[in-house]
Amino acid sequence: MKISNIYSKTNRPVLSFEIFPPKRKKNQTRKDFDTLLNTVDKLTTLNPDFISVTYGAGGTDSEGSFKVSKYIKDKGVVALPHFTSIGYPSQEINSYLEDLGQDGFANILALRGDLPKEPSKADMVWKDFLHATDLIKIIKKEFPRFCIGGAAYPQGHQESNYDGKDIEVMKLKEEMGVEFFLTQLFFDNDKYLRFVETVKNHGVTAPIGAGVMPLMSPKFVDKILKLSGATLHKELHQTLDKYRDDEEEFLKRTIDFCIRQVNDLIERGVDGIHLYTMNKYHPVKKIINNLDIKTAVNT
Ligand code: FAD
Repeated sequence: MKISNIYSKTNRPVLSFEIFPPKRKKNQTRKDFDTLLNTVDKLTTLNPDFISVTYGAGGTDSEGSFKVSKYIKDKGVVALPHFTSIGYPSQEINSYLEDLGQDGFANILALRGDLPKEPSKADMVWKDFLHATDLIKIIKKEFPRFCIGGAAYPQGHQESNYDGKDIEVMKLKEEMGVEFFLTQLFFDNDKYLRFVETVKNHGVTAPIGAGVMPLMSPKFVDKILKLSGATLHKELHQTLDKYRDDEEEFLKRTIDFCIRQVNDLIERGVDGIHLYTMNKYHPVKKIINNLDIKTAVNT
C-alpha cells in the first residue's frame, strides 16, 4: 500500500517505526540478521502503519537494507526502504530502483545521504546527485509508480546553516513529487510545531511524520546529537547528568520522557509519529502501550 494513502485514510496520527540493518563487517553472520528479523517480528505485533529501513547509515549493510525491507513486506507490513543516491552512478541507481519495483515495493524514502568527509572521496560520482531532488526527479520520471517520501529537518540541516532554506527545499521536494515527509529526530515539541506551522504557511501540504527517538543509553547521546543536529531537552540534560553511570535508571527516565513527548504531539494534532526504534523491542513496546493512540493503532 502507498504510504500517502495511509496518511490520507487514517483519522489519527500515522505510526511508523525506523530500523537499521546490521553493521557492515567482514564476518557478518546469519545470526546478526536473524536477531534483527526476530526484532522485526516482535515490532510488527505493535501494529505500526509502516516500517522504514535505513540504507547505509552509520556503516550499516546497504544490501541488508533491501533484504530486511523485503522481509517486512513479505510479512504483509508496509515497508519503506530508504535509499541514498550519493556515491552511485546513475546506472546503479536505476538498477536498484528497478529491483525494488520488480519486488513489488510501493514506497521509497528518497535521500541524498551525507557528503563524504574525506577529501579523497570528494571526486565520487555524487556530482550528478548533489541533492535528494536529483534522485526524486529520476524516480518520478523513470519509476512513477513509487510513492516517494523525503527527509525534513525541524532544526535545519547542517549544510544550510540552519537558516530556514530547508523549508524552501521541502516545498521544492513536494512540487517534484514527494508525497510525505519524515523528520529528523527532535526533543522540543514547541519548536517542532512552530516548524510545521512555518512549513505549512509556505504551502507544503504533504503530511509530516514527527521523528522521535527514545534515548536508549547515555553512551550514545553525544553521537546522536552530533549526527542529528538536534538539541537536547533540558529535562534530558538533567537525566544525563544524574544517571550517566546508571543505564537502567537513565532508560527508565528517557522512556518516560518519550511517552510524554509523543502523547503531547498526538494531543496537538501531528500527522504522524516516526519512532526511531534503535532496533529495540522492549522500550518501544513500553512507549506504544502508553500512548493515547494505542486503541486506534491496534484496530
Ligand atoms: P537533501 O534534501 O539534498 O538536503 C541536503 C542539503 O541540501 C540541505 O541543506 C538542503 O537544504 C539542501 N538542498 C536540497 N535540495 C536542494 C536543491 N535542489 N537546491 C539547493 N539546495 C538543496 N542517511 C543515510 O545515509 N541513510 C539513511 O537511511 C538515512 N535515513 C534518513 C531518514 C530521515 C527521516 C532523515 C531525516 C535523514 C536520514 N538520513 C539517512 C540522513 C541524510 O542522508 C542526511 O541528512 C543527508 O545529509 C541529507 O539527505 P537529504 O535527503 O535530506 O538531502
